[in-house]
Order: sequence, then structure tokens, then C-alpha cells
Amino acid sequence: MTELPPLCFTRLLGQEKGKRILLRSLAAGRIPHALLFRGPDGVGKALFARGLAAVLNCRDQAAGAACGRCPSCRKLAAMNHPDFLVVRPEKGALKIEQIRRLSRELSYPPYESKRRVVVLEDIQTMRREAANSLLKTLEEPPADNLLVLTADASREILPTLVSRCQVVPFVPLSLVDTVTLLQQHGVDAVAAPLLARLSEGSPGRALLFHRQEMVGLWREVVTLLVGAGEDPDREVLPLLHMAERMAALQEALPSLLGLLKIWLRDLLCVDLAPDSGGELPIRPTKSWSSGQLFARLQAIALAEEQLARNCNRALVAEVLLFALQGGIESPRRFSIR
Ligand SMILES: [Zn+2]
Repeated sequence: MTELPPLCFTRLLGQEKGKRILLRSLAAGRIPHALLFRGPDGVGKALFARGLAAVLNCRDQAAGAACGRCPSCRKLAAMNHPDFLVVRPEKGALKIEQIRRLSRELSYPPYESKRRVVVLEDIQTMRREAANSLLKTLEEPPADNLLVLTADASREILPTLVSRCQVVPFVPLSLVDTVTLLQQHGVDAVAAPLLARLSEGSPGRALLFHRQEMVGLWREVVTLLVGAGEDPDREVLPLLHMAERMAALQEALPSLLGLLKIWLRDLLCVDLAPDSGGELPIRPTKSWSSGQLFARLQAIALAEEQLARNCNRALVAEVLLFALQGGIESPRRFSIR
């Protein structure tokens, strides 16, 4: 089911500005020694780095595009090209030993290509000494190498590092592109738009949610809530059981809450503008008023706050589910510490 992403960066979805910058440098024959791909997680920075390496070393390159068939392109597509290295954080950070090892590696010429391309992922995770070590490498860049640093846009990086790179900005993908990518990865037509919205244009994050089976659990929670019958006492056990399963999501629990918020907002839109069209979300059997929907959104906001303060997840999920089911107007009557 899963389609492989195209190799050449020019054929990847989105990042039009980044593509223009890179194509201009390629056309002028002025690829710098270091690029900094800066933008949110999961929007394709690593794929673009590989796609750029493909163009630089393609044996049959035409107008800034890689052929995808020559030996170099094939090795890159299979991720076993000797002149394409990816250095990733180990245990959450890029370490100084990794940078030193890399500097030694760079002092040798590339094995078989015009240019070796090295991707250093998430440089915002470096401590100062590792950053200083990298700075030395950037100050005296060995020939025939291109360093592609990637970094999360929201985190601080040493300004001296930034100033030695050409910065290529990366942005979230459009909803349409994200949905297309998710479907290429085998996500179904109902889940793809939900995950695309939840991920805010980050296909990488959306696929992570998909692997966590977030939409399946969301559907179960929603079904439980909308099916709430006349006798609330009978619904207690399923709610408690569901709260346990939600808590088992651990760090991913806020993402499930994100999906619930999207669902409630959709219901609110339908309630405020019934003729607005669009796909109807799963609706409660006894329809909820705008006020009740707002109260539920508020209950989620409160749960998010509590999770951010490291409150007990199971307890937060329990209180939230009761509030969502009953539409309790003031969730603040519960106090969780
Ligand atoms: Zn090629």
C-alpha cells in the first residue's frame, strides 16, 4: 500500500520556498558548504536533504533534477550510499564525540562521488561544547563536503552556527498535501484528514499518531460519549475502563485530546452554521447545545493544563470523560493535584 516518496527534492510535496532557494544555488553552481534546514518536526527536512544529495551526485542529472535510476540515485534511494551520512541525536542529544568522529571522517575525500553530503539532525539538541566543536568544522569546511544541519525552528541555536550556514526555511505542509501523503502511506480516507489537522501540516507527526492508532481510540471514545444513554450510572464502568486506556497513551494523551477538540469544534461549526456543508462529524444522539459544546471544550482545556502540570493521567482522563459525557458546565468543581 505504501508508496515510496520520490527521490529528487524537486518532486517532493510542499516547501516551495526551500525548493526555489536550492534550485537557484544549483543553477548558479554555488552550493555553500553548509545549509541549515530550519522548521517544524516531520515536514520533510531529512527527505529534502537526501533529495538534494541525489541531485548533486546524480550521474544523469538534468536541469536540477535527479534521474532516480543511475547507480548513485539507486544507492541513495536504498539508503546505502557511502557518501551520504546521517548523524542523529543519541539519547536525545548530538554529542561532542559524534561531532569529532564526523570531523575525522570529513578529512578523507568522498568514496565515489563529487560531493559527500552529511546530514546532522536536530542540532538544537547539542550542548555548548558539541556546538563549539561543530563550529570549528564549519569555519574550515573540508572541500567536497556539504553539511546539511536540521533544526526545530522553535528552539534556540547558537547564532554563530546560524551565521555560517545558508538558512533554508521549512514550513508546515498544506492540509491537502498532508492528506495526500498520508494516503500514500496507506492511511484511510476518514483518518487522513483528521490526522492531517491534528498534526498541523506535519506528515511525520501525523504518521506517528497513525502508528499509535490514535484515530481508532478517538473513534471509540467518541462512540462511548455520543451513545450515553438515559441512565448515567450504567455508563460508569465503560468510562473508567476507557480512562485507563487513555492514560496508557502516556505522552501521546494530549494528542488524543487534540483530536477530541477538533471533533467538538466541528460539531460547534455545524451547530452555529447548519448549512455550512462539509463532512458531518459523528454526532451525539441527543444533540448538544453550543453552550454544552463550549463547556466540553473547556473541560479539555482544563485536562490539558493538568497534564502539563504532570497530574495523574488516569485521574485526569476519568474526570475529563465524565465532564465530556455529562457536559458538566464547570469542570473546575473537580480539583486534581
Ligand atoms: Zn541519477
